[in-house]
Amino acid sequence: MSSAASSPARKQSKPSFARGLFAGRVDEDLIFPYPRLDGDEAEALDMVLAEFNRFAGDHLHGAEFDTRMEIPQEFIRQLGELGMLGFTVPEEYGGSGFSTGAYCRLMQAICRYCAATATVIGGHQSIGIKGIIMFGSEEQKREFLPRMASGEWIGAYALTEPGSGSDAAAMTTRAVYDEADDVWVLNGSKQWITNGGFSQVFTVFAKTPAEPGTKPTQAISCFLVKRELNGVSTTPPMHKMGIRGSNTVDVVFENVRVPGGHLLGQQGRGFKMAMEILNTGRLSLASGCIGSAREMIDASVKFALERKAFGHAISELEMIRHKFALMMAETYAAEAMVYLTTGLCDRGGLDFSIESAMSKTFAGEVLWRVVNHAVQINGGNGYMSEYPYERFLRDARINMIFEGTNEIMRLYISMTGIRDAAAAATAPSLTRVHRALAAEAEAAAVMTRTFAGAMEQTVARHGKDLPARGYVQERVADAIIDLYALLAVLSRCTARLEAAGEEGAARDITLTRLFARQARDRFERNIALLAGPDDELLTAASEVAYKDGGYRLT
Ligand SMILES: Cc1cc2nc3c(=O)[nH]c(=O)nc-3n(C[C@H](O)[C@H](O)[C@H](O)COP(=O)(O)OP(=O)(O)OC[C@H]3O[C@@H](n4cnc5c(N)ncnc54)[C@H](O)[C@@H]3O)c2cc1C
Repeated sequence: MSSAASSPARKQSKPSFARGLFAGRVDEDLIFPYPRLDGDEAEALDMVLAEFNRFAGDHLHGAEFDTRMEIPQEFIRQLGELGMLGFTVPEEYGGSGFSTGAYCRLMQAICRYCAATATVIGGHQSIGIKGIIMFGSEEQKREFLPRMASGEWIGAYALTEPGSGSDAAAMTTRAVYDEADDVWVLNGSKQWITNGGFSQVFTVFAKTPAEPGTKPTQAISCFLVKRELNGVSTTPPMHKMGIRGSNTVDVVFENVRVPGGHLLGQQGRGFKMAMEILNTGRLSLASGCIGSAREMIDASVKFALERKAFGHAISELEMIRHKFALMMAETYAAEAMVYLTTGLCDRGGLDFSIESAMSKTFAGEVLWRVVNHAVQINGGNGYMSEYPYERFLRDARINMIFEGTNEIMRLYISMTGIRDAAAAATAPSLTRVHRALAAEAEAAAVMTRTFAGAMEQTVARHGKDLPARGYVQERVADAIIDLYALLAVLSRCTARLEAAGEEGAARDITLTRLFARQARDRFERNIALLAGPDDELLTAASEVAYKDGGYRLT
């Protein structure tokens, strides 16, 4: 039998910070003080980023990669030499051993230049290698990690199939064990696999035989499949709206004989492993969104301060100010949320899956709004390919689709958290927020209590129907996303106030105040809509389209 049985049993994760909010609890010890990289790691990261920015200035031609719809293998090899492809691989396996927090800051820096390059690195490191680091046996780690950390072997994560995307457990790829030869025989096909056209190692999820009555999610296993094996083939690269430099192909497995020793983790635990791998993948995706958003803000500010209209710099016009105000406050909040969550992740032993799903959802949608404002602020220039805005817009759109669509994120956030729903007798007291933010802290405490009470009512109102109540799931998720974002902003701004005093933190305070108001207003609206005043109308309106086969009104 294969070696999978030897991999260490996984420790049960503690409940997450966010699940406490569903019961009206704010575990301040988990979010204060605002997490920072430790001194040595921060210093090492600064050096890596300085070297990366030098390299990128000369070699990272995002617009050219976009036009060519390809990133040269030579460039990817250079990323390997720079240590970008083994950043989070433990040092004993040839990597740099950086934390998730440091890795996310690297992805943020890369996305200031090119989201396609970040997609190649993410497909390899965030999800292509991650399974081996998390679940690999010592043997597997020794065999795969050093060559993947150097970039000699590029990784890819193969879960999606033509018939199963969001509903991943409906996959049809199968693996059957051949005891005589100690191999698994793999058959099936995977769709839209990043790096699939040139990766040497695929992390593949497939159905394996299981006892009758086993849940589909417990009949999935994970395999490390080398491209060199007979029966592995890929399609030519696909043309896409954005991240055009990245490589996306379909992969076919025809009677591929996978050595027994390349079953990753325990048989039947593949679905859980697939989801746990995505928890960190979603964080690096989210931090990439922050990088692109900051780049769009910087470029647009430069234009708005110079561009004259009606005798004024357009930056002075209130409608333009309004856009910048939202871009700044939302990016500040998304950044606060992402790095609060990497802090939770790097603590170890905590379940950060809901927080990671919220970070991916919020940061992806913030970027979409920010880049859309940037295109508008730049007017015609925003639409022209000689400027970066239209490329950034096209690149940004994928963040709401891959690594779990934002609808699936909202479903996961709401349905996982609501299991802990319980009204709180009193509003939690936020004792660790700086006194300069007392009003915002009070608002967050009241929002937490309101949220917990509303969750208990929601369970009482919908009970077993909840899994089918998508309208409710959306509002629950949006309400807690705004609450978690506000708490992250309060933690970040408090740290700034403690470090620099009110004067030094004036900018943080301004953005915190604006975000707090906007988040509270959206939150209250979502809580009010939980009773479903519009739901019948929403369903009826969608039925008009379905019954008519589209928009047929004259
Ligand atoms: C450029 C690109 C790169 C990719 N790279 C990879 C990769 O490297 N590895 C990999 O495995 N996959 C990859 N994917 C696949 C990606 O993860 C899937 O496209 C994604 O999970 C969505 O699946 P789908 O496209 O089949 O959409 P569906 O699952 O068919 O969804 C269609 C729509 O229905 C919605 N929907 C579905 N179920 C629900 C529900 N229960 N409630 C509410 N709404 C719902 C979805 O949100 C979506 O809006 C990539 C895709 C792209 C486009």
